[in-house]
Amino acid sequence: MNLILFGAPGAGKGTQRGSLIDTYQIPAIATGDMLRAQRRAGTALGDQVTSYMDRGELVPDALMIDMIKERLQEPDARTGFILDGFPRTVAQAEALDATLDQLRRRVDAVIYLRVSRQVLIDRLSHRYSCRSCDAVYNFTPKQALEVPRCTVDGGELYQRPDDKPEIVAHRIDVFLKHTAPLIDYYTTQHKLENIDGQMSVEDVRADITRRLSALKKGAGSR
Ligand SMILES: [Zn+2]
Repeated sequence: MNLILFGAPGAGKGTQRGSLIDTYQIPAIATGDMLRAQRRAGTALGDQVTSYMDRGELVPDALMIDMIKERLQEPDARTGFILDGFPRTVAQAEALDATLDQLRRRVDAVIYLRVSRQVLIDRLSHRYSCRSCDAVYNFTPKQALEVPRCTVDGGELYQRPDDKPEIVAHRIDVFLKHTAPLIDYYTTQHKLENIDGQMSVEDVRADITRRLSALKKGAGSR
């Protein structure tokens, strides 16, 4: 199962990603985490990434594609993957399709978690990340008054600079603006699974599982 997980910051991708990994036994390829990991590891690629980020520039598509292509060829990703954080633009989607073509693979489905702008802003303004393992926590305003330690490794939780309320609204607007054409792109390819991301975590999970099972059946009977 080759999947793209798609949704604005705060749409609940992290949670659903965990369920998908368990259900389908395929790895998540989260480009944001990969970039941070490269940076921390101080690899040659990491140095390149750092130089773009420190200048406040986007990491070029070609560099991202190289990184993803390499990752897709590792043994655990041969039976499938969940791509998260990429593509963000139609140009990136086209580059991804071309790369998958070279690997004789294709995207099976794009899971779009649809959440309204206001709900996203409310959710994101109280999002914290672990300094050591990148685990993400979504707190209610009340919970955020007393931020605990990471339940995975006891690491310190902090608000990433881009999760601060004043930045959040802007990030969401950028996402919605750039991704509208991307949604059209995958709709035209008949790959978009448009999911109501404002349902409970369990209901969202059930809806995704149901749709992917239907897809698998369809592919099997073809
Ligand atoms: Zn942690």
